[in-house]
Amino acid sequence: MTIKAVLFDVDNTLVDFMRMKQIAVETAVDYMMSAGLPGLKEELYNEIFAYYRSNHIESQKALEVVIEKRLGSVDRKILAMGIIGYQRGRDMSTYAYPKVEITIKEIIRMGLQVGVVSDAPSEQCYNRLARLHLIPWLDVVVTYDDTHEYKPSEKPFRLALDRLGIGPDETLYVGDWPQKDIVGSKKVGLVTVFARWGEHKNAPDTGADYDLDSVEKVLGVIRKINTRENE
Ligand SMILES: [Mg+2]
Repeated sequence: MTIKAVLFDVDNTLVDFMRMKQIAVETAVDYMMSAGLPGLKEELYNEIFAYYRSNHIESQKALEVVIEKRLGSVDRKILAMGIIGYQRGRDMSTYAYPKVEITIKEIIRMGLQVGVVSDAPSEQCYNRLARLHLIPWLDVVVTYDDTHEYKPSEKPFRLALDRLGIGPDETLYVGDWPQKDIVGSKKVGLVTVFARWGEHKNAPDTGADYDLDSVEKVLGVIRKINTRENE
Protein backbone atom coordinates (compact mmCIF):
# COMPACT_ATOMS: atom_id res chain seq x y z
CA MET A 1 0.00 0.00 0.00
CA THR A 2 1.36 3.40 -1.04
CA ILE A 3 -0.27 6.67 -0.06
CA LYS A 4 -1.15 8.61 -3.22
CA ALA A 5 -3.42 11.31 -1.85
CA VAL A 6 -4.25 13.23 1.33
CA LEU A 7 -7.77 14.45 2.05
CA PHE A 8 -8.38 17.00 4.78
CA ASP A 9 -11.42 18.16 6.67
CA VAL A 10 -11.56 22.00 6.41
CA ASP A 11 -13.00 23.63 9.53
CA ASN A 12 -10.83 23.27 12.63
CA THR A 13 -8.40 21.08 10.67
CA LEU A 14 -7.00 23.48 8.03
CA VAL A 15 -8.82 26.66 9.10
CA ASP A 16 -8.93 27.84 12.71
CA PHE A 17 -12.69 28.14 12.31
CA MET A 18 -13.83 28.71 15.91
CA ARG A 19 -11.32 31.54 16.37
CA MET A 20 -12.60 33.13 13.18
CA LYS A 21 -16.20 32.75 14.32
CA GLN A 22 -15.50 34.26 17.74
CA ILE A 23 -13.79 37.35 16.31
CA ALA A 24 -16.49 37.75 13.63
CA VAL A 25 -19.26 37.66 16.24
CA GLU A 26 -17.41 39.98 18.63
CA THR A 27 -17.00 42.55 15.85
CA ALA A 28 -20.64 42.15 14.79
CA VAL A 29 -21.76 42.84 18.37
CA ASP A 30 -19.52 45.94 18.61
CA TYR A 31 -20.95 47.30 15.37
CA MET A 32 -24.58 46.60 16.35
CA MET A 33 -24.11 48.22 19.76
CA SER A 34 -22.59 51.29 18.10
CA ALA A 35 -25.77 51.55 16.00
CA GLY A 36 -27.95 51.46 19.11
CA LEU A 37 -28.59 47.80 19.94
CA PRO A 38 -29.22 47.66 23.69
CA GLY A 39 -27.60 45.05 25.91
CA LEU A 40 -24.27 43.97 27.34
CA LYS A 41 -21.56 42.85 24.94
CA GLU A 42 -20.96 39.49 26.60
CA GLU A 43 -24.68 38.77 26.84
CA LEU A 44 -25.23 39.48 23.13
CA TYR A 45 -22.20 37.42 22.17
CA ASN A 46 -23.42 34.45 24.23
CA GLU A 47 -26.92 34.71 22.78
CA ILE A 48 -25.58 34.55 19.24
CA PHE A 49 -23.49 31.48 20.02
CA ALA A 50 -26.45 29.85 21.80
CA TYR A 51 -28.42 30.36 18.59
CA TYR A 52 -25.63 28.75 16.54
CA ARG A 53 -25.52 25.80 18.91
CA SER A 54 -29.27 25.15 18.82
CA ASN A 55 -29.54 25.68 15.04
CA HIS A 56 -26.47 25.47 12.82
CA ILE A 57 -23.03 27.03 13.20
CA GLU A 58 -23.38 28.40 9.65
CA SER A 59 -26.82 29.91 10.29
CA GLN A 60 -27.25 33.33 8.66
CA LYS A 61 -30.17 34.27 10.94
CA ALA A 62 -28.43 34.66 14.30
CA LEU A 63 -28.00 38.45 14.15
CA GLU A 64 -31.60 39.06 13.10
CA VAL A 65 -32.90 36.83 15.88
CA VAL A 66 -30.90 38.67 18.53
CA ILE A 67 -32.02 42.10 17.25
CA GLU A 68 -35.66 41.02 17.08
CA LYS A 69 -35.54 39.64 20.60
CA ARG A 70 -34.32 43.01 21.92
CA LEU A 71 -36.39 45.39 19.82
CA GLY A 72 -39.44 43.38 18.73
CA SER A 73 -38.55 43.77 15.05
CA VAL A 74 -35.49 43.66 12.80
CA ASP A 75 -33.97 47.13 12.67
CA ARG A 76 -32.27 47.23 9.23
CA LYS A 77 -29.76 49.85 10.31
CA ILE A 78 -28.53 47.68 13.19
CA LEU A 79 -28.61 44.53 11.05
CA ALA A 80 -26.52 46.19 8.31
CA MET A 81 -23.92 47.19 10.90
CA GLY A 82 -23.95 43.65 12.32
CA ILE A 83 -23.41 42.04 8.92
CA ILE A 84 -20.59 44.40 7.98
CA GLY A 85 -18.99 43.94 11.41
CA TYR A 86 -19.27 40.19 11.04
CA GLN A 87 -17.65 40.24 7.60
CA ARG A 88 -14.81 42.53 8.68
CA GLY A 89 -14.10 40.43 11.76
CA ARG A 90 -14.25 37.26 9.68
CA ASP A 91 -11.99 38.58 6.94
CA MET A 92 -9.25 39.68 9.32
CA SER A 93 -9.34 36.45 11.33
CA THR A 94 -9.59 33.64 8.77
CA TYR A 95 -6.25 31.94 9.18
CA ALA A 96 -4.90 28.52 8.48
CA TYR A 97 -3.25 26.73 11.39
CA PRO A 98 0.53 27.09 11.48
CA LYS A 99 2.35 25.07 8.79
CA VAL A 100 -0.80 24.23 6.78
CA GLU A 101 0.49 25.90 3.59
CA ILE A 102 3.98 24.40 3.78
CA THR A 103 2.55 20.94 4.53
CA ILE A 104 0.22 21.01 1.53
CA LYS A 105 3.04 22.25 -0.72
CA GLU A 106 5.31 19.47 0.49
CA ILE A 107 2.61 16.84 -0.10
CA ILE A 108 2.32 18.10 -3.69
CA ARG A 109 6.12 18.09 -4.04
CA MET A 110 6.10 14.44 -2.94
CA GLY A 111 3.90 13.75 -5.97
CA LEU A 112 0.65 13.12 -4.08
CA GLN A 113 -2.78 14.59 -4.74
CA VAL A 114 -4.49 16.80 -2.15
CA GLY A 115 -8.15 17.50 -1.47
CA VAL A 116 -10.77 18.38 1.12
CA VAL A 117 -14.00 16.79 2.34
CA SER A 118 -16.12 19.32 4.25
CA ASP A 119 -19.58 19.40 5.82
CA ALA A 120 -19.75 23.16 5.19
CA PRO A 121 -22.11 24.51 2.51
CA SER A 122 -20.24 25.05 -0.77
CA GLU A 123 -20.42 28.85 -0.64
CA GLN A 124 -18.90 29.13 2.84
CA CYS A 125 -16.41 26.34 2.19
CA TYR A 126 -15.10 27.86 -1.04
CA ASN A 127 -15.03 31.33 0.51
CA ARG A 128 -12.86 30.14 3.38
CA LEU A 129 -10.54 28.22 1.06
CA ALA A 130 -10.31 31.26 -1.22
CA ARG A 131 -9.47 33.58 1.68
CA LEU A 132 -6.58 31.26 2.52
CA HIS A 133 -5.53 30.98 -1.16
CA LEU A 134 -5.77 27.21 -0.94
CA ILE A 135 -8.10 26.61 -3.89
CA PRO A 136 -5.41 26.49 -6.63
CA TRP A 137 -3.57 23.70 -4.79
CA LEU A 138 -6.49 21.34 -4.31
CA ASP A 139 -7.22 18.47 -6.71
CA VAL A 140 -10.66 17.85 -5.24
CA VAL A 141 -13.11 19.77 -3.04
CA VAL A 142 -16.20 17.98 -1.71
CA THR A 143 -18.70 20.13 0.23
CA TYR A 144 -22.10 19.43 1.75
CA ASP A 145 -23.80 20.50 -1.48
CA ASP A 146 -22.09 17.74 -3.48
CA THR A 147 -23.84 14.84 -1.71
CA HIS A 148 -26.35 16.48 0.68
CA GLU A 149 -25.08 14.13 3.34
CA TYR A 150 -22.99 15.00 6.38
CA LYS A 151 -20.05 12.98 7.62
CA PRO A 152 -19.93 10.24 8.98
CA SER A 153 -21.91 9.32 5.84
CA GLU A 154 -19.66 7.36 3.47
CA LYS A 155 -20.91 9.35 0.48
CA PRO A 156 -18.69 12.48 0.67
CA PHE A 157 -15.57 10.34 1.21
CA ARG A 158 -16.45 8.01 -1.68
CA LEU A 159 -17.14 10.96 -3.98
CA ALA A 160 -13.69 12.42 -3.24
CA LEU A 161 -12.03 9.06 -4.00
CA ASP A 162 -14.02 8.69 -7.23
CA ARG A 163 -12.94 12.14 -8.37
CA LEU A 164 -9.30 11.38 -7.59
CA GLY A 165 -9.56 7.95 -9.17
CA ILE A 166 -7.83 6.13 -6.32
CA GLY A 167 -8.69 3.60 -3.63
CA PRO A 168 -9.33 4.20 0.08
CA ASP A 169 -6.21 2.34 1.24
CA GLU A 170 -4.09 4.69 -0.89
CA THR A 171 -5.53 7.74 0.83
CA LEU A 172 -4.86 9.47 4.12
CA TYR A 173 -7.78 11.31 5.70
CA VAL A 174 -7.11 14.02 8.30
CA GLY A 175 -9.92 15.39 10.48
CA ASP A 176 -10.58 16.87 13.92
CA TRP A 177 -14.05 15.55 14.79
CA PRO A 178 -13.93 11.93 15.99
CA GLN A 179 -17.62 11.05 15.46
CA LYS A 180 -17.76 12.55 12.00
CA ASP A 181 -14.26 12.45 10.54
CA ILE A 182 -12.73 9.33 12.01
CA VAL A 183 -15.87 7.17 12.17
CA GLY A 184 -16.84 8.13 8.61
CA SER A 185 -13.43 7.71 6.98
CA LYS A 186 -12.81 4.40 8.78
CA LYS A 187 -16.06 2.98 7.38
CA VAL A 188 -14.77 3.69 3.89
CA GLY A 189 -11.37 2.15 4.63
CA LEU A 190 -9.22 5.26 4.46
CA VAL A 191 -6.02 5.54 6.49
CA THR A 192 -7.15 7.82 9.31
CA VAL A 193 -5.36 10.69 11.06
CA PHE A 194 -6.91 12.47 14.03
CA ALA A 195 -6.12 16.20 14.02
CA ARG A 196 -5.66 16.84 17.73
CA TRP A 197 -4.74 20.49 17.04
CA GLY A 198 -8.39 21.19 16.09
CA GLU A 199 -11.58 21.65 18.08
CA HIS A 200 -11.49 18.34 19.97
CA LYS A 201 -8.09 18.57 21.65
CA ASN A 202 -9.10 16.48 24.66
CA ALA A 203 -10.92 13.69 22.85
CA PRO A 204 -10.26 10.24 24.30
CA ASP A 205 -8.72 7.62 22.00
CA THR A 206 -10.51 8.10 18.69
CA GLY A 207 -9.54 4.81 17.07
CA ALA A 208 -7.70 6.65 14.30
CA ASP A 209 -4.63 4.99 12.78
CA TYR A 210 -2.56 8.05 13.69
CA ASP A 211 -3.12 10.75 16.32
CA LEU A 212 -1.13 13.92 15.59
CA ASP A 213 -0.75 17.22 17.45
CA SER A 214 0.31 19.33 14.46
CA VAL A 215 -0.39 19.28 10.76
CA GLU A 216 3.19 18.99 9.47
CA LYS A 217 3.46 15.59 11.17
CA VAL A 218 1.23 14.28 8.36
CA LEU A 219 4.40 14.35 6.22
CA GLY A 220 6.11 11.91 8.58
CA VAL A 221 3.14 9.53 8.36
CA ILE A 222 3.26 9.57 4.55
CA ARG A 223 7.03 8.96 4.53
CA LYS A 224 6.71 6.15 7.05
CA ILE A 225 4.00 4.31 5.09
CA ASN A 226 5.55 4.87 1.67
CA THR A 227 9.08 3.91 2.81
CA ARG A 228 7.81 0.71 4.39
CA GLU A 229 6.18 -0.07 1.06
CA ASN A 230 9.42 0.38 -0.88
CA GLU A 231 11.61 -1.71 1.41
MG1 LIG B 1 -13.66 19.96 11.52
